[in-house]
Amino acid sequence: MIPYLDLKKINLKYETAFKDAFEDVLHSGWYILGQSVDTFENEYAIFSQTKHAIGVANGLDALILSLKALGVGAGDEVIVPSNTYIASWLAVSFLGATPVPVEPRIDTYNINPDLIEAAITKKTKVIMPVNLYGQAAELESICKIAKKHNLYIVEDNAQSQGASYKEKPAGSWGDINATSFYPGKNLGALGDGGAITTDNEALNKMVKILRNYGSEKKYYNQVKGFNSRLDELQAALLSIKLKSLTEENNERIKWASVYNTELQGVGDLTLPILAPHASSVYHIYQIRTSKRDELMQYLSKNEIGHIIHYPVPPHLQEAYQEMGFIKGDFPIAEEIAQTGLSIPLYPGICQSHVEYVISTIKHFF
Ligand SMILES: *Cc1c(COP(=O)(O)O)cnc(C)c1O
Repeated sequence: MIPYLDLKKINLKYETAFKDAFEDVLHSGWYILGQSVDTFENEYAIFSQTKHAIGVANGLDALILSLKALGVGAGDEVIVPSNTYIASWLAVSFLGATPVPVEPRIDTYNINPDLIEAAITKKTKVIMPVNLYGQAAELESICKIAKKHNLYIVEDNAQSQGASYKEKPAGSWGDINATSFYPGKNLGALGDGGAITTDNEALNKMVKILRNYGSEKKYYNQVKGFNSRLDELQAALLSIKLKSLTEENNERIKWASVYNTELQGVGDLTLPILAPHASSVYHIYQIRTSKRDELMQYLSKNEIGHIIHYPVPPHLQEAYQEMGFIKGDFPIAEEIAQTGLSIPLYPGICQSHVEYVISTIKHFF
């Protein structure tokens, strides 16, 4: 069996360092929002080239707290990609605001900046680009549009730690940005975790208050906050993994280029394409084909793991029935859902596995 993703293999590399970190945290006697979180926040801010990083409980909370810190609430609209993981939309809905979907480009799969202005109304408060599958969105054009219309930018950078646009890191372009350390992400914890990055002092302060019940001083609550804190153990483990993130991302990039070369021109396959000036850290290597379902069956028969990202776009999910969207409303997102297939790619994947995936796909076509 060739796994789609082998988290055990990824994490066992760090076994000795993880055990030492566990012992340190155990003996510190302090388990939430302490020295390890402080240290990791500083390191992640440096990595992201932002003034501040704030650890929170998970990526969805990072989005919710970012939007909340900007004052997003009922009556506001937030522009989101029609092609994304549903978390991007859910954060908006959670605050009582309305997600307004904009279609992606069919080649990069990221939100199409040319379509954003048509979606802006008097109620629009935020544009939320998602750096999807590991590739930075066209952040410069998107920021220009936001500036012109006096809107905030919140990047959803859950999938693209280490990617960049014009050499400037993903997760550093927005007024405030969110990321996730879910185990499967490029920087994955051994449990849930997330972070917010920003250069803005006031937003940094507000998010730190929001994540801890709305209080800065214990038992004195300035605002109605949340419990969304990063724990010491996850922070300590993330510090260890952050040191190798660039190396691991480079390995992903290397295998992606092998797939790019070997699968070029095979059948009717469409391979991932980068927008000019955008880099990708290949959180996901997605191919597309009109024979997607048959290819999936063939890969299963040949014991090759694979996943669809994502089988149902948010606008067609039962959870969003109340918005009244129907099939055909966002045809590009729907096309990606119908033809996209992600194949095995992760740091530490065996060359023989990559070769077998390639030869099996070639054999299918
Ligand atoms: C994973 C993910 C999230 C949510 O992160 P969690 O840590 O699982 O809450 C948000 N947005 C995108 C695009 C994601 O891939």
